[in-house]
Amino acid sequence: MEIKVLKDILSANDQRARENRALLDEHHVFTVNITASPGAGKTSVILETIHRLKDRITFGVVEGDVSSSIDAKMVGKEGVPVVQINTGGTCHLDATMVSNALSNLPLAKIDLLIIENVGNLICPASFALGEDRKVLVASVPEGHDKPHKYPVMFSQADVVILNKMDLLPHTDFDLKAFESAVDGLSNKAQILRVSCKTGEGIEAWIAWLLEQLPAC
Ligand code: MG
Ligand code: ZN
Repeated sequence: MEIKVLKDILSANDQRARENRALLDEHHVFTVNITASPGAGKTSVILETIHRLKDRITFGVVEGDVSSSIDAKMVGKEGVPVVQINTGGTCHLDATMVSNALSNLPLAKIDLLIIENVGNLICPASFALGEDRKVLVASVPEGHDKPHKYPVMFSQADVVILNKMDLLPHTDFDLKAFESAVDGLSNKAQILRVSCKTGEGIEAWIAWLLEQLPAC
Protein backbone atom coordinates (compact mmCIF):
# COMPACT_ATOMS: atom_id res chain seq x y z
CA MET A 1 0.00 0.00 0.00
CA GLU A 2 2.75 2.46 0.93
CA ILE A 3 4.54 1.65 -2.29
CA LYS A 4 1.45 2.59 -4.24
CA VAL A 5 1.24 5.96 -2.45
CA LEU A 6 4.86 6.65 -3.27
CA LYS A 7 4.28 5.82 -6.93
CA ASP A 8 1.34 8.22 -7.01
CA ILE A 9 3.45 11.03 -5.61
CA LEU A 10 6.20 10.36 -8.11
CA SER A 11 3.90 10.18 -11.10
CA ALA A 12 2.24 13.46 -10.05
CA ASN A 13 5.74 14.94 -9.93
CA ASP A 14 6.58 13.52 -13.35
CA GLN A 15 3.42 15.05 -14.76
CA ARG A 16 4.32 18.45 -13.33
CA ALA A 17 7.89 18.07 -14.62
CA ARG A 18 6.52 17.46 -18.12
CA GLU A 19 4.48 20.66 -17.83
CA ASN A 20 7.59 22.57 -16.74
CA ARG A 21 9.50 21.15 -19.69
CA ALA A 22 6.74 22.16 -22.11
CA LEU A 23 6.70 25.71 -20.72
CA LEU A 24 10.49 25.95 -20.92
CA ASP A 25 10.53 24.58 -24.47
CA GLU A 26 7.86 27.04 -25.49
CA HIS A 27 10.14 29.88 -24.35
CA HIS A 28 13.29 28.24 -25.81
CA VAL A 29 14.90 27.93 -22.40
CA PHE A 30 17.53 25.21 -22.01
CA THR A 31 17.62 23.90 -18.45
CA VAL A 32 20.23 22.13 -16.36
CA ASN A 33 19.60 20.60 -12.94
CA ILE A 34 22.76 20.71 -10.82
CA THR A 35 23.00 18.20 -7.98
CA ALA A 36 25.76 17.47 -5.48
CA SER A 37 26.50 16.82 -1.85
CA PRO A 38 26.54 19.93 0.33
CA GLY A 39 29.81 21.80 -0.17
CA ALA A 40 30.94 20.20 -3.43
CA GLY A 41 30.90 23.56 -5.19
CA LYS A 42 27.62 23.86 -7.09
CA THR A 43 27.37 27.60 -6.53
CA SER A 44 31.03 28.11 -7.50
CA VAL A 45 30.43 26.24 -10.77
CA ILE A 46 27.35 28.38 -11.44
CA LEU A 47 29.24 31.61 -10.76
CA GLU A 48 32.14 30.54 -13.03
CA THR A 49 29.65 29.66 -15.76
CA ILE A 50 27.97 33.04 -15.54
CA HIS A 51 31.33 34.85 -15.56
CA ARG A 52 32.45 33.06 -18.71
CA LEU A 53 29.21 33.22 -20.68
CA LYS A 54 27.19 36.22 -19.62
CA ASP A 55 28.30 38.23 -22.64
CA ARG A 56 27.10 35.47 -24.98
CA ILE A 57 23.91 34.09 -23.49
CA THR A 58 21.28 35.14 -20.97
CA PHE A 59 20.82 33.30 -17.71
CA GLY A 60 18.21 32.57 -15.12
CA VAL A 61 18.92 30.75 -11.88
CA VAL A 62 16.76 28.86 -9.41
CA GLU A 63 18.47 28.37 -6.06
CA GLY A 64 17.21 25.51 -3.93
CA ASP A 65 18.22 25.49 -0.29
CA VAL A 66 16.70 24.12 2.89
CA SER A 67 17.03 27.64 4.30
CA SER A 68 18.88 30.94 3.70
CA SER A 69 19.40 32.92 0.53
CA ILE A 70 23.19 33.20 0.72
CA ASP A 71 23.75 31.56 -2.68
CA ALA A 72 20.93 33.47 -4.36
CA LYS A 73 22.44 36.76 -3.21
CA MET A 74 25.84 35.80 -4.67
CA VAL A 75 24.23 34.89 -8.00
CA GLY A 76 22.02 38.00 -7.95
CA LYS A 77 25.15 40.19 -7.72
CA GLU A 78 26.00 38.98 -11.23
CA GLY A 79 22.92 40.78 -12.52
CA VAL A 80 21.16 37.51 -13.31
CA PRO A 81 17.47 36.92 -12.48
CA VAL A 82 17.39 34.47 -9.60
CA VAL A 83 14.60 32.90 -7.58
CA GLN A 84 15.30 31.36 -4.21
CA ILE A 85 13.33 28.32 -3.13
CA ASN A 86 13.60 27.56 0.57
CA THR A 87 12.31 24.05 0.98
CA GLY A 88 11.82 24.45 4.74
CA GLY A 89 13.46 21.14 5.57
CA THR A 90 12.70 19.13 2.46
CA CYS A 91 15.93 17.68 1.15
CA HIS A 92 15.26 18.03 -2.60
CA LEU A 93 13.46 20.23 -5.10
CA ASP A 94 10.31 18.91 -6.73
CA ALA A 95 8.62 19.93 -9.95
CA THR A 96 5.91 21.96 -8.19
CA MET A 97 8.50 24.11 -6.41
CA VAL A 98 10.25 24.69 -9.74
CA SER A 99 6.92 25.48 -11.42
CA ASN A 100 6.35 28.24 -8.85
CA ALA A 101 9.85 29.57 -9.48
CA LEU A 102 9.28 29.60 -13.26
CA SER A 103 6.29 31.87 -12.88
CA ASN A 104 8.65 34.38 -11.23
CA LEU A 105 11.29 34.38 -13.97
CA PRO A 106 11.36 36.30 -17.29
CA LEU A 107 11.42 33.08 -19.34
CA ALA A 108 11.18 34.82 -22.70
CA LYS A 109 14.51 36.53 -21.96
CA ILE A 110 16.41 33.46 -20.71
CA ASP A 111 18.60 31.16 -22.86
CA LEU A 112 19.97 28.98 -20.06
CA LEU A 113 18.21 28.22 -16.80
CA ILE A 114 20.39 26.74 -14.09
CA ILE A 115 18.64 24.99 -11.21
CA GLU A 116 20.82 24.49 -8.15
CA ASN A 117 19.22 21.59 -6.33
CA VAL A 118 19.43 21.05 -2.57
CA GLY A 119 22.76 19.48 -1.58
CA ASN A 120 21.86 15.79 -1.42
CA LEU A 121 22.78 12.77 -3.54
CA ILE A 122 19.79 10.59 -2.70
CA CYS A 123 16.25 11.78 -3.38
CA PRO A 124 16.89 14.39 -6.10
CA ALA A 125 17.32 11.28 -8.27
CA SER A 126 13.59 10.56 -7.88
CA PHE A 127 12.27 14.03 -8.70
CA ALA A 128 12.41 15.20 -12.30
CA LEU A 129 12.08 18.97 -12.54
CA GLY A 130 11.65 19.43 -16.28
CA GLU A 131 15.35 19.81 -17.01
CA ASP A 132 17.13 19.04 -20.29
CA ARG A 133 20.35 17.83 -18.66
CA LYS A 134 21.47 16.60 -15.26
CA VAL A 135 24.82 17.82 -13.97
CA LEU A 136 26.42 16.17 -10.96
CA VAL A 137 29.17 17.98 -9.10
CA ALA A 138 31.45 15.75 -7.01
CA SER A 139 34.60 16.95 -5.30
CA VAL A 140 37.97 15.50 -4.40
CA PRO A 141 37.66 15.84 -0.58
CA GLU A 142 34.51 13.70 -0.63
CA GLY A 143 36.54 10.68 -1.68
CA HIS A 144 36.60 8.46 -4.75
CA ASP A 145 33.98 6.06 -3.41
CA LYS A 146 31.04 8.48 -3.90
CA PRO A 147 29.78 6.79 -7.11
CA HIS A 148 29.55 3.47 -5.29
CA LYS A 149 27.60 5.04 -2.44
CA TYR A 150 25.15 6.99 -4.60
CA PRO A 151 24.85 4.90 -7.76
CA VAL A 152 21.42 6.15 -8.84
CA MET A 153 22.46 9.79 -8.95
CA PHE A 154 25.65 8.98 -10.83
CA SER A 155 23.87 6.71 -13.29
CA GLN A 156 21.45 9.52 -14.23
CA ALA A 157 24.07 12.23 -14.74
CA ASP A 158 24.75 13.56 -18.23
CA VAL A 159 28.02 15.02 -17.03
CA VAL A 160 30.03 14.63 -13.83
CA ILE A 161 32.17 17.56 -12.75
CA LEU A 162 34.93 16.49 -10.37
CA ASN A 163 35.63 19.76 -8.58
CA LYS A 164 38.45 20.83 -6.22
CA MET A 165 41.13 19.14 -8.33
CA ASP A 166 43.58 21.58 -6.71
CA LEU A 167 43.27 19.54 -3.50
CA LEU A 168 44.27 16.26 -5.17
CA PRO A 169 47.92 16.31 -3.93
CA HIS A 170 46.69 16.66 -0.35
CA THR A 171 44.42 13.62 -0.38
CA ASP A 172 44.54 9.93 -1.22
CA PHE A 173 41.78 10.41 -3.81
CA ASP A 174 42.16 7.76 -6.52
CA LEU A 175 41.22 9.38 -9.85
CA LYS A 176 41.24 6.11 -11.78
CA ALA A 177 38.99 4.42 -9.23
CA PHE A 178 36.56 7.34 -9.32
CA GLU A 179 36.42 7.58 -13.08
CA SER A 180 36.04 3.86 -13.65
CA ALA A 181 33.25 3.75 -11.05
CA VAL A 182 31.41 6.53 -12.90
CA ASP A 183 31.99 4.79 -16.24
CA GLY A 184 30.58 1.59 -14.78
CA LEU A 185 27.38 3.33 -13.75
CA SER A 186 26.75 5.53 -16.75
CA ASN A 187 27.64 5.03 -20.36
CA LYS A 188 26.77 8.61 -21.23
CA ALA A 189 28.32 10.76 -18.50
CA GLN A 190 31.40 12.66 -19.44
CA ILE A 191 33.75 13.29 -16.51
CA LEU A 192 35.34 16.71 -16.30
CA ARG A 193 38.24 17.42 -13.92
CA VAL A 194 37.72 20.93 -12.63
CA SER A 195 38.96 23.37 -10.04
CA CYS A 196 36.87 26.48 -9.57
CA LYS A 197 39.76 27.81 -7.51
CA THR A 198 42.50 27.56 -10.16
CA GLY A 199 40.27 27.57 -13.25
CA GLU A 200 41.45 24.10 -14.33
CA GLY A 201 38.88 22.40 -16.54
CA ILE A 202 36.42 25.28 -16.60
CA GLU A 203 36.94 25.71 -20.33
CA ALA A 204 36.08 22.05 -20.90
CA TRP A 205 32.90 22.46 -18.85
CA ILE A 206 31.92 25.57 -20.79
CA ALA A 207 32.59 23.74 -24.07
CA TRP A 208 30.43 20.80 -22.95
CA LEU A 209 27.63 23.16 -21.97
CA LEU A 210 27.75 25.09 -25.25
CA GLU A 211 27.60 21.82 -27.19
CA GLN A 212 24.34 20.95 -25.44
CA LEU A 213 22.70 24.32 -26.00
CA PRO A 214 20.58 24.74 -29.06
CA ALA A 215 22.03 27.51 -31.25
CA CYS A 216 21.19 30.79 -29.61
MG1 MG B 1 25.25 26.35 -3.17
ZN1 ZN C 1 14.68 14.70 -0.41
